[in-house]
Amino acid sequence: MNKITIEDVDLKGKRVLMRVDFNVPQNEDGTVRDDTRIRAALPSINYALAHGAKLILMSHLGRPKDYLKSGDTAGLARLKMDPVADCLRGLVNAKVTKLDQVVGPEVEAAVAAMQPGEIILLENTRFEKGEEKNDPELAQQLAKLADVYVSDAFGTVHRAHASTEGVTKYVPVSAAGFLVAKEMAYFTRVLSNPDRPLVAILGGKKVGDKILVIENLLNLVDSLLIGGAMMFTFMKAQGLEIGDSLLDKDGIEVASKILALAQEKGVPLLLPEDVVVAKAFDNDAERKVVAAGEMEPGWIGLDIGPKAVARYCDEIRKAKMVVWNGPVGAFELPNFAKGTRAIAEALAAGDAVSIIGGGDSAAAIAQFGLADKMSHVSTGGGASLEMLEGKALPGLVALTDKNAQCGCGCRCS
Ligand code: AMP
Repeated sequence: MNKITIEDVDLKGKRVLMRVDFNVPQNEDGTVRDDTRIRAALPSINYALAHGAKLILMSHLGRPKDYLKSGDTAGLARLKMDPVADCLRGLVNAKVTKLDQVVGPEVEAAVAAMQPGEIILLENTRFEKGEEKNDPELAQQLAKLADVYVSDAFGTVHRAHASTEGVTKYVPVSAAGFLVAKEMAYFTRVLSNPDRPLVAILGGKKVGDKILVIENLLNLVDSLLIGGAMMFTFMKAQGLEIGDSLLDKDGIEVASKILALAQEKGVPLLLPEDVVVAKAFDNDAERKVVAAGEMEPGWIGLDIGPKAVARYCDEIRKAKMVVWNGPVGAFELPNFAKGTRAIAEALAAGDAVSIIGGGDSAAAIAQFGLADKMSHVSTGGGASLEMLEGKALPGLVALTDKNAQCGCGCRCS
């Protein structure tokens, strides 16, 4: 994929509008509880500052519309970017000015007065009604602030919002920051030039959520390993007993189609031969291992069994590249985290390039302390899934298309 990155653009003295993901977990009083996302943007921020940019940062924080609906002004006030600005001040060696607006004359005046090496942080982009509607007027007002737009919020690139997609239509240059460039590089490699054997592991709850991913992966992978609650929908589709395990009823037909499609394409689709079942969704509930198909009423499956673990880990050992999305068991309960942990450990110990989707799989890897042993842990759950579906993500299109532009800032070529 032909992309333009922050390193391809001359930033000296330019107004650089950077979309970052500062949607951080907060404490009750609004202060930042976990600054991981802010730190993740530092390479792009520091690069822009070191190269003489006037850096304008923008992000959403939480879901202001929930509070707008209920008229909860205190809740809304907690979503102002001030605590984020305080946190950022402790992490960068630059003047950080936080503004109380996203766009408008005050913002334009503040930007006009900026010196290279300074940072302005705009107010929560979702305070603007036009943000999630991708309102062209808001997009144009944002674009007015910028000579260069940098996208470094991978977690939002699958959404066509004014600050992620709309704005790119009106700025002269759009480029990927380091975070987004790394995400794109890994997922593009999986989709267009994977190391083989390529193995995909899919878990999680609903087949429906993953159908497009599975369909696309069946065109790419050498084998597909299924785990998580989703496996029971596949077992049901095969006519097996699943006891009281979680079932995605609407997904049964889809699962049958996927099983047939895998067979037609000759792609091995592995389902566990044994399962850890329990009397309740509770860490201390009575539990035992049973063969798939021998789950009785009153028992729910919460993890893949030891035989399945051995077979799945063997596939991982033979792989050269592994993509993993969704835990294979209820990993939040330690007694049912063994399958997910074994897979994480096999990936950590092996030589395969390991690409972990965001969301729950990333949480599991972090829980096991193995994040730094993976080749890539995605920062965007939804975005990584949509990449694996083979979709063109709205926030990434401009970063690839514009290289082919005539240079006038439009898309006339
Ligand atoms: P998803 O959000 O669809 O990726 O699903 C992730 C969630 O599925 C995690 O919270 C896991 O605890 C849960 N999960 C995985 N396996 C099972 C299972 N066998 N039964 C119930 N929940 C599960």
